[in-house]
Amino acid sequence: MERIVAEKTFSKGIAIEKAYTVQAVDLTCEKYTISKDEVSREIAEFEAAVEKVNKDLSELALTDAIFEGHLAIVNDFSFADGVKTRISELTNVQTAISETVEEVESEFEKMDDEYIRERAADVADVGNRLLAVLQNKSLNKFASIRDPVIVVADDLAPSDMAMLDLNKVKGFITERGGVTSHVCIMSHNMGVPALVGVQGILKKVTSGDLVAMDAFSGEILVNPDEKAVKEMLAKKQMEENRTAVLKEKAALPAVSVDGHQVKVYANVGNLEDVDRVLKFSAEGVGLFRSEFIFMENDHFPSEEEQFEIYRQAVTRLNRELIIRTLDIGADKKLSYYQFPQEGNPYLGWRAVRVCLDKKDMFKAQLRALLRASAFGTIKVMVPMIISCEELDQVNALMEICKAELSRENKEFNPELSVGVMIETPAAVLCADLLAQRADFFSIGTNDLTQYVLAVDRGNEAISSLYNSFHPAVLRAVAQVIKAGHQAGIEVGMCGEFAGNPKATEILLGLGLDEFSMAASETPVIKDIVRNLDYKKAVQKAERVLNCFTVKEVTDILN
Ligand code: PEP
Ligand code: MG
Repeated sequence: MERIVAEKTFSKGIAIEKAYTVQAVDLTCEKYTISKDEVSREIAEFEAAVEKVNKDLSELALTDAIFEGHLAIVNDFSFADGVKTRISELTNVQTAISETVEEVESEFEKMDDEYIRERAADVADVGNRLLAVLQNKSLNKFASIRDPVIVVADDLAPSDMAMLDLNKVKGFITERGGVTSHVCIMSHNMGVPALVGVQGILKKVTSGDLVAMDAFSGEILVNPDEKAVKEMLAKKQMEENRTAVLKEKAALPAVSVDGHQVKVYANVGNLEDVDRVLKFSAEGVGLFRSEFIFMENDHFPSEEEQFEIYRQAVTRLNRELIIRTLDIGADKKLSYYQFPQEGNPYLGWRAVRVCLDKKDMFKAQLRALLRASAFGTIKVMVPMIISCEELDQVNALMEICKAELSRENKEFNPELSVGVMIETPAAVLCADLLAQRADFFSIGTNDLTQYVLAVDRGNEAISSLYNSFHPAVLRAVAQVIKAGHQAGIEVGMCGEFAGNPKATEILLGLGLDEFSMAASETPVIKDIVRNLDYKKAVQKAERVLNCFTVKEVTDILN
């Protein structure tokens, strides 16, 4: 048995399962010279692979037009010619494919036309599909998960998480990532324990090892003995009992002892999460990360596809649903879209910047949201806003969509609220201005903390500096709440800080109207609010805002 202790914990819980270590699918192939006699056999292998990939892609293209582009490539005469010529020059088939793909890719990448440049990713995808067939490998690195497992990986991208079958994944352990990395946040929302930044774990665990993880204390046991398993199971049972007690009171409102009520909402990423909101009696959804719909897909979801999801979400929920417009870029990539290489992706082309550049895509989302708003209380909020101009542009597009829908006789809520996520220092400093044009604010402390402190939220090497209790972050939060209230709008928070029990009192005292967090956390936060005195919380918040250091802040709050 080996014992490892992770320093930082965030998505809590206990799991005991076999490990599933994730390896990237390695499709590298060795270059070698074939004999003249082997040429026809290698060409036949290529043609058989083309046939197989052609069949797979044709099936995909039936439901998704994007694969027609892939099909065109795999059936392209000059592509096949490039591969066959190389084989005839005595290069083995796999290398012939790789080299032809590289050549076509680099030609596409040189094009001025953005659309053609983006097709380079399709060429690479077709190449990978052909190589996977020839090497008899699956491209889905999670395909072989059949039974419950704890996934152990170097790092996981949000798009990886979107591909996982959560009925089977009982825990995550990664070598990289900070506690507000998206892997951690997403597992938290899904109610799955996660430990990130556990360096060296892949050297200590191999697939099939029994792993016991306690994401409360950070303890990981590899191949634990019987006694240790028993102890871990007992802790798990205790935790389940505690959750059951809180769940009994979950439906009660969050009203402080002196009568101050706040809303306690949940964060979601898909329709399954919506069911968790109901299970934990959260009062609404403060953040629907709509990018999950995009990441779970293999094409940009159409207006119709999005409309159906938003409509189902609000109907099933039957309570307020705040949907965030697409927030891709930085670490949130799409398998079917090539993002530009950026030196500083978190300061780069992401969120509303992408949406305002790709207006057709954005309009499809806004139209879908508007149409779904006819079925329940939907509000829309926009991420990464840095200026009133951006908000004006979003509102102008919204008006265009409304006019189109009216002409088409499609129903929507003409009063649909459009709010702003406050997650950049620019938005904090302009909060009084934005508040005059926004219908509500929601503070995204995950990004706000990283941008205010200039500390990358996903970098475990500097994770000790990433702290939302830093006086600068707390002052930013206070300023935003004040600006929102002066303009008469509600201020919520959907960053992870809203679900941190140690922060509840100060956030209550600062006047936060709505707290949004992982669904499983909502009964805990409601219970804390019900035991707090609002007037005392206000006084404490005032004291905290005068603190010089994080330690002074946490000493007061503890
Ligand atoms: C945030 O930044 O606080 C937030 C809620 O958005 P995300 O974590 O998805 O960036
Ligand atoms: Mg954010």
